Amino acid sequence: MINLILFGPPGSGKGTQADRLVKKYNLHHISTGDLFRKAIKNKTDLGKEALKYLDKGELVPDSVTVGMLRKEVEANPKAKGFIFDGFPRTYNQAQALDNLLNELDTEITCLIELRVADEELTKRLLERGKTSGRSDDQDTSIIANRIEVYKSETIPVALYYATSRKAYIVDGVGSIDEITERLIDRIDIQSNSK
Ligand code: AMP
Repeated sequence: MINLILFGPPGSGKGTQADRLVKKYNLHHISTGDLFRKAIKNKTDLGKEALKYLDKGELVPDSVTVGMLRKEVEANPKAKGFIFDGFPRTYNQAQALDNLLNELDTEITCLIELRVADEELTKRLLERGKTSGRSDDQDTSIIANRIEVYKSETIPVALYYATSRKAYIVDGVGSIDEITERLIDRIDIQSNSK
């Protein structure tokens, strides 16, 4: 089973690359951002709660996010593995994920960070905002907040997996194909070493 955390700041290309890796490795893609946006669209209680945070570029509280993630994992018992995209985003979420996978008798294969400079991220997000319809991609102060939150709350997740030597960095600048190749090279090394 391959369980991959596709890690990196907003705009680093996690969603785009996850779509490709899902096909290559036959994994189930879980994007917590997409799950929240779906709940918001469907006006569920979860969506109403999440909206308060997404609108500002803040993180949805761990209890809400972890509960949603658990449900999504448990709803896919036949999955050959998962790509976690946008999760975990806090140290507590990382611990909760490890506990959940442990219950299922599996573990994280590796975390791969797509590294991209801040100026490039802002440029990409504003560009995406022209077509994504996402209000959090259209406002420079919300974008700046999301990048700050990544640095303060989310970077510790990479450090957490680095202590068990499962964290890797891949250059997230280049063509989409080049970056996919870099990711595949890293995943194949990691999964063959098991
Ligand atoms: P994303 O699509 O990954 O950029 O996520 C969009 C927004 O959803 C974030 O700015 C947060 O408000 C929320 N969100 C997504 N994933 C998480 C998470 N793991 N923990 C808390 N909030 C999240």
